[in-house]
Amino acid sequence: MITIPDFKTPAPRGLCTDCGVSRMDDPSACGKACQFIKPDYPELENKIHSRPAKSDGDERFFGVTQAMYRAALTPPREGAQWTGLTTRLAEQLLESGKVDAVLTMVPDATDRWRPRPAIITDPADMAEARGMRMGYAPLLALLEPAQDAGHKRIAVIGIPCQIYALRALEHDLGFDRIYVIGTPCSDNTTTANFHSFLARLTDAPETVTYLEFRADYHVELRFRDGTQRLIPFLKLPLSDLPDDFFPVTCRTCVDYTNRLADITVGYMAGEGDQWLLVRNARGQEMLDGLAGEVTLAAPGSRGKRQSSVKGFVENTRLAAGGLPLRRMPDWLRGVMGWLMPRIGPRGLEFARARVEMKAAETILHLRREEPAKIKNMVPDHVWNLAAPYGLEPQEGEQIKPDQST
Ligand SMILES: Cc1cc2nc3c(=O)[nH]c(=O)nc-3n(C[C@H](O)[C@H](O)[C@H](O)COP(=O)(O)OP(=O)(O)OC[C@H]3O[C@@H](n4cnc5c(N)ncnc54)[C@H](O)[C@@H]3O)c2cc1C
Ligand code: SF4
Ligand code: SF4
Repeated sequence: MITIPDFKTPAPRGLCTDCGVSRMDDPSACGKACQFIKPDYPELENKIHSRPAKSDGDERFFGVTQAMYRAALTPPREGAQWTGLTTRLAEQLLESGKVDAVLTMVPDATDRWRPRPAIITDPADMAEARGMRMGYAPLLALLEPAQDAGHKRIAVIGIPCQIYALRALEHDLGFDRIYVIGTPCSDNTTTANFHSFLARLTDAPETVTYLEFRADYHVELRFRDGTQRLIPFLKLPLSDLPDDFFPVTCRTCVDYTNRLADITVGYMAGEGDQWLLVRNARGQEMLDGLAGEVTLAAPGSRGKRQSSVKGFVENTRLAAGGLPLRRMPDWLRGVMGWLMPRIGPRGLEFARARVEMKAAETILHLRREEPAKIKNMVPDHVWNLAAPYGLEPQEGEQIKPDQST
């Protein structure tokens, strides 16, 4: 069964992605739960993974990791964003009786790109949740209806800002067990904005059934008639978008890889496959449940990211400083669009590059848009990622250890 409850209206908030907490019985819980106020990653990592992320090696980029794979569900599932690992993990939890319900998103009945929070109790219905939608929807407002329905053991599938709030509140919620399946997330925007983006990519946006920013530097579009189109990143009409196209939240978000999930399922280091980060024993338990269904391999890593990240930081610095983004001449865009998949960083190096870019973006955009929030909102892991690119905390931008209480 799929239950789509009605929710209260959200309480007014500043930086907010409407994760659902402000629609709960106690909207003041936002103060404790919100990623955009004063997140404490080391404390929550200690609670959930029994230790904070290491400050060297790949944990510096991706957070606590017990095992990391290039992965594919075989066969891939119809309608999935990649191979359907995310929804299959949850489906298996329902099949095995480990959980009574899964809290996730399904497409809105009238707009397939708009996410709608849903409680799913029948494993076969997980097929409805497959695929990526663009936009925000109050996932965590499902927690109280799930409790009211008597569900004690649940799985939650969410993006990082939703999972941060879930982790901050989970001990007060009274569930016996929560399995957390996370996906990475970047550059989200409102569903309305997304429709205007689609309309810039094609004359027939209503026929687009799939969109993904792939790790080979192309956006893939699929259409209702089964055709596919690949657009190099550098040919995207990004500089034509209005300044507020990406809300400040998603330009200043501090967690790309869903560091507090039990297992993160993405694609960035997958080189065409998916990318799995098993973060703790519960994540491993979920992956073990799919034994024989998943192809696993060590992720590869090629190229050097530093010059790409440096160029990105420089452009973002100019854009965030109010100067027009330097436009690349069209002939050079074509050449670079051809070169990037061949010489640009790939596999883990691509994922490291994207995580560093996002960290730099967070600092530069917060400095411009919400400077008073930097001190509390930017965790050390973000400062550490941005430091090699000349972005270090300025006076008053970081809480010193003796101020932390
Ligand atoms: C806005 C956005 C940006 C993303 N950016 C990246 C990225 O930069 N790098 C990367 O590696 N991965 C990113 N992802 C994750 C990626 O798109 C895939 O979802 C992931 O690789 C899982 O693929 P799958 O085939 O296993 O998922 P599926 O089995 O198809 O399941 C997808 C799951 O995601 C949920 N979901 C879909 N849309 C939303 C939404 N708007 N909000 C919350 N949950 C949603 C669905 O309900 C479903 O449970 C992003 C996801 C979103 C929603
Ligand atoms: S994102 Fe969630 S926790 Fe943060 S202010 Fe909005 S509703 Fe509250
Ligand atoms: S980019 Fe960050 S803030 Fe925006 S929706 Fe994704 S996780 Fe939330």
